[in-house]
Amino acid sequence: MPRDPRFDVLFEPVQIGPLTARNRFFQVPHCSGMGHLLPRSDAAMRSMKAEGGWAVVCTEQCSFHPHAEAAPYPETKLWDEDDVIRMRHWTDTIHAHGALAGTEIVSNASALANYYSREIPLGPSHTPVTYSPDPVQARAMDLDDIREFRRWHRDGMLRARDAGFDLVYVYCAHDIAMPMDFLSRRRNRRTDEYGGSLENRVRLLRELLEDTVEAVGGSMAIGLRFATDELLGKDGITWEDEGCKVVEMLADLPDFWDVNVSDWNNDSASSRFTSEGYQEPYIAFVKGIVKKPVITVGRYTSPETMLSLITRGIADFVGCARPSIADPFIPRKIEEGRLDDIRECIGCNICVTGQHMKTPMRCTQNPTVGEEWRRGWHPEKIEPRGSDSSVLVVGAGPAGLECALALGQRGYRVGLAEASRELGGRVTHEAALPGLSEWARVRDYRTYQIEKLHETVEVFRESEMTAETVLEAGYRHVAVATGARWRQDGIGRTHTAAPIPGSDAAHVLTPDDLFAGAAPASPVVVYDDDCHYMGGVIAEKLASDGLAVILVTPSPVISAWAEEALEQHGIQTNLVKIGVQIVTGHSLTQIDAGGVQVEGVYGEGARSIECASVVMVTSRLPNDALYYALGASPERLADAGIHSVKRIGDALGPGLIAAAVWSGHRFARELDAPPPGDVPFKRELVVI
Ligand code: ADP
Ligand code: SF4
Repeated sequence: MPRDPRFDVLFEPVQIGPLTARNRFFQVPHCSGMGHLLPRSDAAMRSMKAEGGWAVVCTEQCSFHPHAEAAPYPETKLWDEDDVIRMRHWTDTIHAHGALAGTEIVSNASALANYYSREIPLGPSHTPVTYSPDPVQARAMDLDDIREFRRWHRDGMLRARDAGFDLVYVYCAHDIAMPMDFLSRRRNRRTDEYGGSLENRVRLLRELLEDTVEAVGGSMAIGLRFATDELLGKDGITWEDEGCKVVEMLADLPDFWDVNVSDWNNDSASSRFTSEGYQEPYIAFVKGIVKKPVITVGRYTSPETMLSLITRGIADFVGCARPSIADPFIPRKIEEGRLDDIRECIGCNICVTGQHMKTPMRCTQNPTVGEEWRRGWHPEKIEPRGSDSSVLVVGAGPAGLECALALGQRGYRVGLAEASRELGGRVTHEAALPGLSEWARVRDYRTYQIEKLHETVEVFRESEMTAETVLEAGYRHVAVATGARWRQDGIGRTHTAAPIPGSDAAHVLTPDDLFAGAAPASPVVVYDDDCHYMGGVIAEKLASDGLAVILVTPSPVISAWAEEALEQHGIQTNLVKIGVQIVTGHSLTQIDAGGVQVEGVYGEGARSIECASVVMVTSRLPNDALYYALGASPERLADAGIHSVKRIGDALGPGLIAAAVWSGHRFARELDAPPPGDVPFKRELVVI
């Protein structure tokens, strides 16, 4: 189908510095957890976006000198000629699909500790490093340091050009970049010509831009990534004041402006706290000042809002990081009139956790991300079936849905049996919790795609399968995707051996009970020993239902792991705001009729908390009874013509929704494939 002419404007070529971008889709720099440690993997991930039609595909931030490194994060590097050769791999793979390649030259300045190079971090003033509580201080640069820094930065730009990049960024955003440190009244306490007035504080940024123009201007498009607002009110940069003035001061220097809000928590805020286009109030003014192309982000996932961003004159390019991860083929799909095939990002920020874990990023919506090179998984192509086998998938949660979809796309005959009327499993339940409605896209995208495969994939709702019915169903392979259930007994991270006394009482519930309609009495204690999002979001739901809620966790903060997804601060702040009583650093030791006993994890004595009910969020158990029932009689399986029974998703190991989707996808990819061996993917090893 040809594209809807309404979207033509998104496909107009745009002049950007000395170059022409083929359309208005711009993948802004984003990290991946792969970077310089896994160069082939990272480049393969980026090349999918070039193939998917993006006009510009950028790497993540790229360090230009050992004094400006990003360790422990595996960001790309352009320190010397060896790096130039390595980075050519990125530009070649991006160029191979007709996109322009960009990179963001960075010094993380006083944000990071230079753990690899052991150089003392540099900054405008003496200060402890800011991104994490490392026992390291950045030292204040003197004028010689600044001169050297400018030389390193300029050399980095030249190396970017030599590596084949078309676009290069000067980076002043996210509160982790040198020029932003100088700009910041909070970070810059200098009294020389680089401190004090705004004119002085912006001096380094201006010089870096001028150096870059002098070094590579005319041969590359030079961008400025600039945070117009820090969302700190008068304590930080605001778009109405300093943000606007800086844009006015530097308007014509770069070839393009990429504008956003700072810090990274705000720029990549999850869908729990923001909706599509959330940055517009802070950046809309920029187009009124500058005459150069403007790019912005805001988790634009729908073609309509992308179109509106351009037609309302807010920006010239649709900037995307997360939406391009969830669906690297967005431009192609709009071009081909396949809007319904777009796999919209759900804003869960699991991709971000990959960077924080320094491992290949995962995506809840796109199971192929990070697997493009090492397993050869393409987001839009899958091997045709390897036989005329048929597969029964039991359970239509994220694992079962993805499995059935990918098997159907391969051409297998598939039956998808789901016990309940609703498809989606945990996603359907969790999407009903406060702030998580976008998560339903995991279900909706797959359900819609499965409907299109109705000739091969048959869906059976309200079909709770037993070993008997599976044996009778007439499929050759069985994928058991029956999910997991929350434990009521309190066993989890803290209580590892024995159930918490009293946890078997009727007023003790689990999230599954709440999903099934149980209503806890107020006041309610939510006990969170899971430490991801569930405890916090259940507390939020119950508090918004009008219950008095006490949230108890052994962890020092609420929803501790949500920090990796940039959500922890927002979750705890919100719970405080809505009146949830928070008890951190305490474990639950006993449950009685009128309350619970808790004990401090640092030796604080026991105390009791009055409550009428308890919700346990500790850990989950796989629903694997069907799997073991089937495995109990291999002869009956053989008689029924069943060749294999495997568990996937939470039924195999309860975990992230992203892990369940990936697991379902893996099953489909590997069916009838040669055995993958003990190490089931290619590795990137340094040759010794
Ligand atoms: P996952 O995250 O692994 O996909 P979920 O818990 O989200 O797991 O989904 C599991 C799905 O399996 C649920 O929708 C549940 O209703 C369904 N289910 C569980 N047991 C059976 C069964 N015996 N027959 C059919 N469906 C089942
Ligand atoms: Fe979007 Fe979540 Fe995928 Fe990140 S992991 S791209 S937030 S769906």
